[in-house]
Amino acid sequence: KVRVRFAPSPTGPLHLGGVRTALYDYLFAKNQGGEFVLRIEDTDTARYVEGAEEYIEEALEWCGIIADESPKKGGKFAPYRQSERRPIYDKYTEQILKTDYAYIAFDTAEELDAIRAEYEARGEVFSYDNRTRNQLRNSLVLSDEQVQKLLDEKTPYVVRFKMPVDRTLNLEDIIRGKFSVNTNTLDDKVLVKNDGMPTYHFANIIDDHEMEISHVIRGEEWLPSLGLHTLLYEAMGWEAPQFAHLSLILKPEGKGKLSKRDGDKFGFPVFPLNFTDPATGNVSKGYRESGYLPEAFINMVALLGWSPANDKEILSLDEMAKEFDLNKVHKAGARFSKEKAEWFNHQYIQQKSDQELLEILKNSDFDTTLSDEKLLKVISLMKERLTFIKDLTLDNEKGKFFFEAPVSYDEKASKKAWNDQTSAILGELASHLENTEFNAESLKNAVHDFAENKGLGMGKVMMPLRLSLVGELKGPDVPDIMELLGKEETTSRINNAIN
Ligand code: GLU
Repeated sequence: KVRVRFAPSPTGPLHLGGVRTALYDYLFAKNQGGEFVLRIEDTDTARYVEGAEEYIEEALEWCGIIADESPKKGGKFAPYRQSERRPIYDKYTEQILKTDYAYIAFDTAEELDAIRAEYEARGEVFSYDNRTRNQLRNSLVLSDEQVQKLLDEKTPYVVRFKMPVDRTLNLEDIIRGKFSVNTNTLDDKVLVKNDGMPTYHFANIIDDHEMEISHVIRGEEWLPSLGLHTLLYEAMGWEAPQFAHLSLILKPEGKGKLSKRDGDKFGFPVFPLNFTDPATGNVSKGYRESGYLPEAFINMVALLGWSPANDKEILSLDEMAKEFDLNKVHKAGARFSKEKAEWFNHQYIQQKSDQELLEILKNSDFDTTLSDEKLLKVISLMKERLTFIKDLTLDNEKGKFFFEAPVSYDEKASKKAWNDQTSAILGELASHLENTEFNAESLKNAVHDFAENKGLGMGKVMMPLRLSLVGELKGPDVPDIMELLGKEETTSRINNAIN
């Protein structure tokens, strides 16, 4: 049975990379008819950030990445929060200490600093490993009596992994293939801290085993831990899951890892939702609050490192799950593009009905006196120009003229559209329109007839008319705009412009 987990640490908000890991975990599980588990890895109390777990859950929910088992939902292997699984870890700490793969170390921070300094003084780098462990205070060096005495005196200790000497580990990753690592390049990692809580490495493999995880799909920053994790499975006598490590998401220029700072620099969010740092009160902008539709957001994220068959680009979550293939996940890093993200949002706006867009607009903090009927017309006229639905509203320019008369006229456009005769022409046009029915069809004919009678080209009339109504030479067809504004508003805007 395929079981996949997403195992974030609540050390801050979920970022773009985290969302992609969760999404691939989810897509792979669903593709295989398996289960997707959310597990919170909160054993590192020093790095715990208040609210981060709630943020992660809310963000995944917004994306539609719904876990089959999670801290909130529970499940057969509950609890799903590592801080609540201490008794399980205690049992396995005892077990690993009975093997030859772990030992107890009593070194204090001061002792470790001192030996590190000695190494540095000789121009060497200290690492707690098979070459140095016998210079320290641990159960490999001390006699059984000494160890017992220290334990009886309640001396704080940690449990360390005893890295085997000079062994070649043959490892395999679904995305990267086979590679090997010599154990001499690895150190004796702490498995259990002096408060009795396991570190990430130990808790992680215990839980993956206990929760019957079949595939571990995670970020490439964990690839260097694969050797240790493989040996931990060996030490415990457990079968290891299969592993897939995802490549980085790169900066828009293509070099280096995408960071929070790049978001500020290039003006795009790197978080799914707004996040308020509890320590500083700083707010990092989220995709949701920036006006992205969740469908567009996850579609964009999914294609950062995976291409479906036929290079299809627009896929729903279900379609993605149907097509997802770990073997088609790219080994190279995926470059983030703000333009592409906006393109996806634009595409998804086109897929929504006007009614759906109206609901979204009304659920935002948008305030207008226009009736729903008029709003629907504005939406249908403007839809194909929108990157974000909020572009329609007063502070987002694109559709501003539907709600407010222009207060100024674009200078370049004025030069182009206006000459000495224009005011007189538009004045006449306004009276000509007095008796016209205000629907786009009649208005178009009326303007047309007017221009013909005057012996003027259509452009000579339409351009200044558009400028008077919109303030610049943009927007949908002028007769459509006039119909929507109605006679009174149209006339008043023309009069404003010519006086
Ligand atoms: N807790 C780890 C993290 O926050 C999980 C790594 C893994 O998936 O094994 O990234």
